[in-house]
Amino acid sequence: MIVAKNKVVSLSYELKVEGETVETVGADSPLMFLFGTGNLLPKFEENLNGLKLNDGFDFDLVSADAYGQVVDDAIVDVPLQAFAVDGEIDHENLKVGNHIPMLDQSGNRLNGVVVKFNDEVVTMDFNHPLAGNNLQFSGKVVDIREASADEMEHGHVHSPDSCKDCTDQDCHSKSN
Ligand SMILES: [Zn+2]
Repeated sequence: MIVAKNKVVSLSYELKVEGETVETVGADSPLMFLFGTGNLLPKFEENLNGLKLNDGFDFDLVSADAYGQVVDDAIVDVPLQAFAVDGEIDHENLKVGNHIPMLDQSGNRLNGVVVKFNDEVVTMDFNHPLAGNNLQFSGKVVDIREASADEMEHGHVHSPDSCKDCTDQDCHSKSN
């Protein structure tokens, strides 16, 4: 069996940025994903396509193929009152450098970092934390298996072979 569309692939890997390790995923709790469903970066999958069990990999993704450049438009001023809970500003959370989950106008979840704030506005940076970086991945294919019919229908992995632990909100409604 090789890494291909509709296979469930498990990887252990190390991610480096400019030689510094930013993420380590061990074989005991590997990254498990349904290949070819667009859940991961296309260039990431392209570099794994066709590998066999226990094959190693070592490749770089330039930022354009990863999380793009840092864009100024993603750094925005938000009224301080948006951070109020019951009329009170939560100063435990509102600190420079803190990650704060927010909703945009369409209700999508966004993760922002507090850049600075004053009495009126909070400057938030919604760029991906790895934007502007070239990513260096090295690792190993630790498992490949066929996806179940449910997994293919849902477009994500179930563990183990059931929907029980699935975090996808649509999942349970679909399986019931
Ligand atoms: Zn599911």
